[in-house]
Amino acid sequence: MRELYWLQKDLRLQDNPGLLAHSAASELLVVYIWQEPRPWCNLRGVGKQRQRMLLEHLQSLRDALRSLGQDLLFLTGQPELLIPELTRTWRIERVGTSRCPGVYEAQQLERVRERLTIPLQVHAGNTLYGRQQLPFDLKDIPEQFTPFRKAVEPLPIELPIPAPEQLPPPPTALAFPPLPAASVSPHTALPLRGGSQAGQRRLQQFTFGEEAILQYKATRNCLDPLTGSSTLSPWLAHGALSAREVAHAVYSFEQEKGGNDSTHWLIFELWWREFFHWRALHDKHRLFRFEGLGNGRRNRFCTFDPRAFARWCQGDTNYPLVNALQRQLLATGWMSNRGRQISASCLIHELGLDWRYGAAFFEKHLIDYDVGSNYGNWQYIAGVGCDPRGGRHFNQTKQAAEHDPDGLFTAKWGGLRPKQPLFVTDAADWPLLPTEADEGDGEN
Ligand SMILES: Cc1cc2nc3c(=O)[nH]c(=O)nc-3n(C[C@H](O)[C@H](O)[C@H](O)COP(=O)(O)OP(=O)(O)OC[C@H]3O[C@@H](n4cnc5c(N)ncnc54)[C@H](O)[C@@H]3O)c2cc1C
Repeated sequence: MRELYWLQKDLRLQDNPGLLAHSAASELLVVYIWQEPRPWCNLRGVGKQRQRMLLEHLQSLRDALRSLGQDLLFLTGQPELLIPELTRTWRIERVGTSRCPGVYEAQQLERVRERLTIPLQVHAGNTLYGRQQLPFDLKDIPEQFTPFRKAVEPLPIELPIPAPEQLPPPPTALAFPPLPAASVSPHTALPLRGGSQAGQRRLQQFTFGEEAILQYKATRNCLDPLTGSSTLSPWLAHGALSAREVAHAVYSFEQEKGGNDSTHWLIFELWWREFFHWRALHDKHRLFRFEGLGNGRRNRFCTFDPRAFARWCQGDTNYPLVNALQRQLLATGWMSNRGRQISASCLIHELGLDWRYGAAFFEKHLIDYDVGSNYGNWQYIAGVGCDPRGGRHFNQTKQAAEHDPDGLFTAKWGGLRPKQPLFVTDAADWPLLPTEADEGDGEN
């Protein structure tokens, strides 16, 4: 049987049950379709670092496929047009892909299905547990993290499946053009390359290599990558590493070297990822609405101030640490969890902007962008998501004193910017003259 496998967020050979399910085909066409994101919240396109990371994941996967006599067909366009066309041209008899949590991805999958005259099989996504393993129906998923965690904690995490030793060949006579080249290199502050092998090296370094996992609970709030938290997200988000692979690497480490609170905490954070994944599938469009889950909590009043948003995006606010964090994101495509919390809180609670603009900016630039984790965390901080406390307002002065006491991080990323007045025009758009009060604005 000639089959087609559509890669989405599962860019790996190992622990990829979807791809494996198609390895008995007589010929297999492996496809990735690059889609330009739709403009949203005054933003368009994908940041250069995010684009680079994805292209590197794809190139590495392509090399791995080629070593098994396979290849990767890279196309640009709409899957609902391209996949049916490919199935007709190459007389494909079965299509497979893995599940993505976003509602728009799910709708697109249904459009692909409607246009196909052959079966489309949807395999499990990159999660710790399969959907059938969950001890509740998806419609009854707990709204908050703690009950979710308590419900899944006793469940076994299945062993990752090894990479296939061979795969069926692609249809003969099919040409595989080269992948586009990335327009940037990794920033020196985050010299990470995409691809499963690089991800596995990082996992090995964080666990058995440097044994940094033993201090993870104490260091995870560090603002720099590689020295505090695991920095595994760039691979996990694209499926270049599977969540089960990471969990089992932690278990092996615990068995061999002994576990502690810190080793357990990494699993704890994977449960957060898991929680947001299943919540995204459940919450559908509510993940992108201003009022979020809309469960009786009241939104803060806010308006759209393009200048304040542009200043936050570029790292030119009156909050030096936020500026540094935004500049780190723009340059490297990554920001620590604590940094994301500080920066998001600033946009929502200090600048009074619609949280979705911040989330969209993160979506554009993060090399680990993940729909559930990104929009779920933003909603959490805005107080319209799964937070029992109704939002998180981080005190900017306290955060800077705690996480960058000597100002080294702020200085490194050029966070100290000249102060500017909050508004330069009045409500009727007439220019305002600066006043003395403006000088005291902000928290420098
Ligand atoms: C506003 C905001 C936006 C975010 N957007 C994303 C996103 O688009 N993609 C993304 O992967 N994470 C996102 N996170 C979660 C978290 O910041 C990153 O997963 C983490 O910083 C990645 O670095 P790490 O791999 O070193 O994490 P570690 O601390 O080493 O954690 C290990 C893994 O656990 C998972 N994880 C850790 N913290 C969280 C969390 N709070 N929520 C969900 N999963 C978590 C990630 O997969 C991470 O790689 C966001 C957090 C906030 C506050």
